[in-house]
Amino acid sequence: MTEEKKRLKLKSSGDAKAVSTAPERKWRVLVVDDDVEVHAVTRMILGKLRFKGRGIEILDAFSAAEAKELLERERTIAVILLDVVMETEDAGLQLVRMIRDKLGNRAVRIILRTGQPGQAPEEQVIMDYDINDYKAKSELTAQKLFTSVIAALRSWETIVSLERTEAGLTRILDSTGTLFQVSSLQQFASGVLTRLAIFLECQPSGIMCVQFDTPVPGVDAAPCSLRVLASTGVCASCVGCALQPEVCQHQVMVDLIKKGLTERCNQYVDGYTVLFIDADGVLGAAVLMHGERCARVDEQDRKLLALFASKVSLGLANTLHYQKMITAEAAASTDFLTGLNNRRQLLRLGVSLVANAWRSGSPLAVAMLDIDHFKRINDTWGHDAGDEVLKRVAEKLATRFRRSDVVARMGGEEFCVIATNLTTGAAYELFNGFCQTLAAEPVSLGGQEVRITISIGVTTRVADHIDTMITAADALLYRAKQEGRNRVVIE
Ligand code: GH3
Ligand code: MG
Ligand code: MG
Repeated sequence: MTEEKKRLKLKSSGDAKAVSTAPERKWRVLVVDDDVEVHAVTRMILGKLRFKGRGIEILDAFSAAEAKELLERERTIAVILLDVVMETEDAGLQLVRMIRDKLGNRAVRIILRTGQPGQAPEEQVIMDYDINDYKAKSELTAQKLFTSVIAALRSWETIVSLERTEAGLTRILDSTGTLFQVSSLQQFASGVLTRLAIFLECQPSGIMCVQFDTPVPGVDAAPCSLRVLASTGVCASCVGCALQPEVCQHQVMVDLIKKGLTERCNQYVDGYTVLFIDADGVLGAAVLMHGERCARVDEQDRKLLALFASKVSLGLANTLHYQKMITAEAAASTDFLTGLNNRRQLLRLGVSLVANAWRSGSPLAVAMLDIDHFKRINDTWGHDAGDEVLKRVAEKLATRFRRSDVVARMGGEEFCVIATNLTTGAAYELFNGFCQTLAAEPVSLGGQEVRITISIGVTTRVADHIDTMITAADALLYRAKQEGRNRVVIE
């Protein structure tokens, strides 16, 4: 048989083998040598080897150039048995540089096999080139080759596993970092689903749901019920739903979520990945359906997913705190009954508005408003009716003034308005108009039409502080009461 024919025969038998045994994941060993006999002998020695229940697939390259081409395509080769002298004196050594530096493949284990040890002195080569073993062909008995390859496979497996963990961790850190910047729960939940889908390399199709022990601001759900915060893919229509077995068509998913919440751990069953989330006592689950990918969620993936889940739990706790803070802040600045600003908020906003007007000389009006004979309303129709009147007046105030103006309930039946850029004349028109409209639109209390009137004191004398202007407006309000109520007194 000619050299060429032998090569062809070797190649075709190798290919056929690779195709026929495709379903089994084999260790892939690349033999790079210009000597065909070396390929044949290696195949004979390693052909029957089994390690960790997996056989060996041998790939052949007959020159460094051929090997380079192959390595550019194949990233799953574990070991290279590499000759030094091929198309050039140091073709093998150049290939090592190529693999490590150009291809960036640090994982593949390289066993250098040289026929002429004098050509590439062991000490120098092992120092200068990133190889893992150096053997003279003469010393490579079947047993030695066997031992070398097994050791190389073992360390390749460890390196690849470390690389995968590192890549997985990087992906988790990269993707969950931004989850801490979102402000709404819904936004957070859909972020979790997309990132989980990226991690599992599958279509984002699933839900994220949360179970609250106590009501949570921004989420319309009864305590202890599971509420879907976000959903994607085939579950897209589930968002906002309460997750009840009778209602949800994804029975398996609902059961798995319940199981996850009861057992307090992640579940990987029937093509579903269910992450258990515990954020300061608020329990939740992120579920992704990913069919066949599930079969590939191995021990290492599970560890990474557990880490992902713990990051998500932290992110959820963070988002819930943010939501509570926003709600608390809103509550601290809002009047509970009318939803207008409260006194505290008016003073806070008023300080800068008045200071600006004082500095710039632009007009500004501060008005104090007090409902007339309000006590009578309470006394006649009851406190609830009184509250109703307060709300109506507040509504009318809120719609009457511009967004840039500040309207607040100061307490009881007393309101305050800070209106910017209003001259005395314009301010009078505005407040008098309000006074008249209010009086002209009676409120129905206990089936009776009741006329509500208000007295208003307005100052347009800009002072250096809001307190001074409020005191002035209060004095003018007192005058309006004295002069007969249902009127505006302005200065
Ligand atoms: P005037 O025209 O002089 O302002 O008389 P008035 O009756 O409006 O004033 P007064 O200060 O004597 O009475 C205000 C009443 O408003 C007394 C108080 O019980 C009632 N009030 C204060 N806060 C509330 C509230 O939140 N809801 C209701 N319904 N009543 C309130
Ligand atoms: Mg009053
Ligand atoms: Mg009063």
